[in-house]
Amino acid sequence: MDKVLRHLSSGRLLRFVTSALILAIVGMQSFALWRSYQETWRDGERYTANTISVLAGAIERDFLLVESSLTGLAEALRESTLMELPAGLRQRVLFRRAGDANDFGVMLVLDAQGNVLFDDAEDDLSARNFADRDYFRVHQESSNAGVYVSRPFVSRLASAAPAIGISQRLNAPDGSFAGVAVASIRLIYFRQLFERVKLPPGGIIRLTLSDGTVVLRYPSTDGRGNVGDSVPPDPSPPERAGTADGWWVETSRLDGERRFLRTAYVGGYPLSVTVGLSERRQFGGWYLRAAITLALTVTVSLLLALTVSALATSLRRSREMERQLERMAITDSLTGLPNRRALDLTLDVEMQRSRRERRELAVLMIDIDHFKRVNDTYGHAVGDAVLAEVAHRVQRAACRPGDFVCRYGGEEFVVVLPETPAAGAELVGERIRAGVAATAVMTHGLAIEITVSVGIAVQRADDGPGELVARSDKALYTAKRAGRNRVARLETFAA
Ligand code: GH3
Ligand code: MG
Ligand code: MG
Repeated sequence: MDKVLRHLSSGRLLRFVTSALILAIVGMQSFALWRSYQETWRDGERYTANTISVLAGAIERDFLLVESSLTGLAEALRESTLMELPAGLRQRVLFRRAGDANDFGVMLVLDAQGNVLFDDAEDDLSARNFADRDYFRVHQESSNAGVYVSRPFVSRLASAAPAIGISQRLNAPDGSFAGVAVASIRLIYFRQLFERVKLPPGGIIRLTLSDGTVVLRYPSTDGRGNVGDSVPPDPSPPERAGTADGWWVETSRLDGERRFLRTAYVGGYPLSVTVGLSERRQFGGWYLRAAITLALTVTVSLLLALTVSALATSLRRSREMERQLERMAITDSLTGLPNRRALDLTLDVEMQRSRRERRELAVLMIDIDHFKRVNDTYGHAVGDAVLAEVAHRVQRAACRPGDFVCRYGGEEFVVVLPETPAAGAELVGERIRAGVAATAVMTHGLAIEITVSVGIAVQRADDGPGELVARSDKALYTAKRAGRNRVARLETFAA
């Protein structure tokens, strides 16, 4: 764990892990948003597809009933015995409407001049002429107009209701134009149908002729169903409209609302039903959710980044502190030299290495002569300054890389000289002694003459660190006894 933390605080890895985490959060949120966008879109699609198929189906069914009534009417008219029937019966035979089509309007039979021959209206329509209506003219001008769906008009009957007509041409036995059979459908029929649909807010249903003439818009913006308005013709070709691809987006000229629109044709009639859903209403909830998610994601990511960087900083600091403490634990503060603890660590390693590599290793024990006197004469502050200067001179004398100088305690120093035989150690010892004695230590305005005694010991095969240092100490004692300011090697005397 500690190792992992150390690794983490190394910055780059931490940055990588944090970035990966933030990326994962952003990725997950984006995916969730994308899914919910699709779901919202699919909801709209499902809704409009269902609505449109129900509406177009209902209208088509009723149109087919009207058409079959018109066909029945045309057949009855061809009966030569029609006029022989009593008026009441003839009326029933002619206007035997298929199904329950009463809401629609009236049926008329017009002659070749547009005069009313027969009708099922409650008003008296004899001597009325409808030759100006498009449902008449289209058949007058062409024999193959088929079943024609007229432009919306206002009825000239007492009802004055807005309506459309569905008309069929009547032919004389020789094929010439004999008139028109027409059934009107009041627009209220469509309105009632559309009202039954529970449109979501902002939605519209529109019934449009294929040239873009609006038959009815629900809800209307003018209170009258926007009858006769014209909209740009359906951008998708009729055979594609109403299929899964039959979507388009349009901003309404009437209310400025942007809508997703879908259109389906009513059977084979040149009439289409369009259902539109307000983009704002449909995706309003989604936009809000997206904004909240975005804000949350940014906040969480920022918090995460900040927390992690604070964590990294504190980890780095504590590691620096740790290192400093470690350094402090093995450094002597007065002289800046390694301390006795450091000696223990170094000596252990160096002795093992020299034994392994069959090299010699020497230890020097250095002690300032009559140091007590310096303290007693000049005070401890001067004593400390002298100690630091001697430390400096000792260190300067043991200058090979690998040489190790430390403060052993009090006014004693130990020097470890790897790969150094006795002769070399004596040379270094002498250099230390001479270096200290050469010039007086200048401090606190004083010039203080200082000397040191040096004891040398060389590693033996069976030595432990303690024994080696003890022998150097013994050699030092010998040097002291011999008069101080000198270098002594125990072995020399023992030999
Ligand atoms: P010699 O070694 O030549 O026998 O005489 P000496 O006076 O040096 O003897 P000894 O080892 O008894 O005295 C050591 C003195 O070193 C005792 C103490 O006053 C002084 N000393 C030890 N550590 C410090 C230190 O950190 N600062 C100062 N100012 N003096 C210290
Ligand atoms: Mg001493
Ligand atoms: Mg001393």
